[in-house]
Amino acid sequence: MAGAPRKFQSALYYHNPVRLVRMRSESNDSKTPVSKRVSRKIRVSILGSTGSIGTQTLEIARLFPDKIDIVALSGGKNVGLLEQQAKEFLPECVVIGSSEAGKGAQSRFSCPVFVGEKELARAATWERTDIVVTALVGALGLLSTVAAIKTGCRVALANKETMVIAGDLIQDLAMKFGSEIIPIDSEHSAIFQCLLGESKSEISRLILTASGGPFRERALNTFGSISKKEALSHPNWEMGPKITIDSATMMNKGLEVIEARWLFDIPQDKIDVVIHPQSIVHSMVQFVDGSTKAQLGVPDMKVPIQYALSTPSRWPASHPVVSWQEDQKMTFSSPDPIRYPGLLLAFEALRIGGSMPCILNAANEVAVHLFLTDKISYQSIPSLVRRVMDHCSEHEEFSIEARLESDRKARRVAEELAGTANH
Ligand code: MG
Repeated sequence: MAGAPRKFQSALYYHNPVRLVRMRSESNDSKTPVSKRVSRKIRVSILGSTGSIGTQTLEIARLFPDKIDIVALSGGKNVGLLEQQAKEFLPECVVIGSSEAGKGAQSRFSCPVFVGEKELARAATWERTDIVVTALVGALGLLSTVAAIKTGCRVALANKETMVIAGDLIQDLAMKFGSEIIPIDSEHSAIFQCLLGESKSEISRLILTASGGPFRERALNTFGSISKKEALSHPNWEMGPKITIDSATMMNKGLEVIEARWLFDIPQDKIDVVIHPQSIVHSMVQFVDGSTKAQLGVPDMKVPIQYALSTPSRWPASHPVVSWQEDQKMTFSSPDPIRYPGLLLAFEALRIGGSMPCILNAANEVAVHLFLTDKISYQSIPSLVRRVMDHCSEHEEFSIEARLESDRKARRVAEELAGTANH
């Protein structure tokens, strides 16, 4: 591959099925007659198996027992659910991230149990794992995702913060270790599918769709009284609480813009966001000849999760599919920056570059947590993020460790500012 531009070798543009084909047949030695060969199952490890993406991944594993073997499960505090999952899927190991919750837990499991945040990397690097689903929420997922990438396996990436905090570094690592990163985020899964077989130089724009969240039509002068319950009821998608709040402020879409910038190596001025309340078009790519490709489907996270496991194949759908015989109304409009302050903040962080997207993400995690624990109001979420960004300067050093330091510092600053700000 000498001489070829590094970024062009990314599996994201020219998806290479060779690795999976090899993976599926390597259990058959060459002496086995072809007619008798059976493909072995895909060995899957889940980081964050008790969360929203994790449990949906297990639903898919339940539907395809002939294709998927769950080899490692990991979660945070919910040991009861981990125990149930382990009984059903019989993994080879379980990791409990919370040292407190994991105390004395070994007796409840029939496989080895590892306890503590540092042990999460063990689930990410479990022996002969083909695919690691990284579904840990927040910055916690970064180190275990890095560990998974270093094994050269496929990473089914649901932890968008990994790309937000260190997308530039992660892509280089994936290239170095030959790991393919397949996005689980529905927008990025859509773009990934639209880009198969396409050339990067012929892309005109990436267009991410956004549902507009629960406050798309709410009067702006009532935003001061938005309650937690209102912010947690998303009209289209069923997701965890943090991402549901992020989709109301559109910080989620902002983080997705940053994620797309690094996943597909496209500058931010070629990335657009449009509001599409029906959530049928999951994202689009416009090409230089004026053609637009889109991926459409029902708003169900199981679709991109299943695709990240099955690609380059497609497995039969178990969920309802779009019926094109019925009237399907689809509308598109551009987002109002006052209604959705998270989007502007994210574009600004990307423009500043370096560690600023990491600072943005850390500040937002703290702000959303403070809102969910009734410490600050809904409107204080973006204002706190803004103040942290103004307070922290962008870090020049490009390493995972430096990013994690920026992350810790931004969290401290956010807590301090929130504490002194009398929200
Ligand atoms: Mg998404």
